[in-house]
Amino acid sequence: MGITRLKLHWQILIALFLAVLAGVAAGEEGALFGLTFYSVFDFLGTLFLNALKMLIVPLIVSSIIVGIAGIGSSSALGRLGGKTLLYYLTTSLLAILVGLAVVNIITPGIDEQGPVKERVGFSGDTGDFADKVAGKGTGDVVDVFLRMVPTNIVAAAADGQMLGLIFFSLLFGFFMTKIQEDYAESQYNFWQGVYETMMRITDWVMLFAPIGVFALVAKVVASTGFDAFAPLAWFFISVVLALVIHVFVTLPLLLRFIGRVNPLRHYPAMAPALLTAFSTASSSATLPITMECVEKNAGVSNRTSSFVLPLGATVNMDGTALYECVAAMFIAQAYGLELNFATQFTIVTVALLTSIGVAGIPAASLVAIAIILAAIGLPLEGIGLILAVDRILDMLRTSTNVFSDSCGAVIIGRLQGEQGILQGKVAKG
Ligand code: ASP
Repeated sequence: MGITRLKLHWQILIALFLAVLAGVAAGEEGALFGLTFYSVFDFLGTLFLNALKMLIVPLIVSSIIVGIAGIGSSSALGRLGGKTLLYYLTTSLLAILVGLAVVNIITPGIDEQGPVKERVGFSGDTGDFADKVAGKGTGDVVDVFLRMVPTNIVAAAADGQMLGLIFFSLLFGFFMTKIQEDYAESQYNFWQGVYETMMRITDWVMLFAPIGVFALVAKVVASTGFDAFAPLAWFFISVVLALVIHVFVTLPLLLRFIGRVNPLRHYPAMAPALLTAFSTASSSATLPITMECVEKNAGVSNRTSSFVLPLGATVNMDGTALYECVAAMFIAQAYGLELNFATQFTIVTVALLTSIGVAGIPAASLVAIAIILAAIGLPLEGIGLILAVDRILDMLRTSTNVFSDSCGAVIIGRLQGEQGILQGKVAKG
């Protein structure tokens, strides 16, 4: 009774709210019998994250294989791929342009006294930057394409090299349909079985989402506190405003006019995934829950979602692209760099390309921002300016990333002629 009957997203929301209170109350030092609350939050949060990550490899592989084998012909696959890439590029570009407009209007990097560099410089130590990006290994843009074809599929899976894994699974699913029928059939049944089992395990892990979310958010609040925000308030507001426009204006317009569905139905359908993305700050870790919500709540077929979502979790990052653009512009403004058309064009292009290559893990954008700063000739220390607020903005942009992937699944599903999406009551347009 009581709380067990509440819908999962309400449970998670309550957990979020309690987490803020608990985080503020506990701080980093608060302890009971010598055990800090922080370490308890850390333990539970990591446990939940580990459980999610544990699902990723078998879930991605089985769902892509089953989805692609179900599509069959290469022309059908080509059409699906074409629509998906077009959607990814368009929405990422729209997100960047919204960010660019907002940051040009608000100009968070310049106040009455001119560029704010000196005045916000205390907010981050650049030493932190090295720690944060260590091991993120985005590499440059060419690298992304190289990693698509892994030399060793097992190593790719072990290192979480999602693109390589996706590429291999696409090939496997495709060529599985080309072999002798009885072999093909037993392969198909096997992978379908793996996929269904993985979805069941995901269901079960999701039951722990409220506890996991509580622990992850309480940990962030306990360690960050709220003081860090004040000097960066305008930067913070610019990013949040631009993300809000993208999530509540741009994407719903696409859902309505291209997907021809009621966008208001899509938010509750995706709530558990959005809240998980918010607390984990990782679109990859959220992927199992995103798939579950898109298929079970929004009603998109596995054929579409198994292709669009795993790919989207790595390739389509609207929130990240937008953030990279706003952050680079902010740092450039703060340094007093002249922002002519060529510079802004460079920022937009590099943000678009790097957002494709960035991994779906926390703080991954920082690497991409470093690449942009190098491209426009600013020192990497600039990143120190934004570190203090990066985590909270990471949570918000990750939810945006996941939301855009899910809208992509809905829109592409509809363009593929699926009828049952978002309760089948399709809005007339
Ligand atoms: N944390 C983001 C994600 O997983 C990536 C980033 O922007 O840092 O989607």
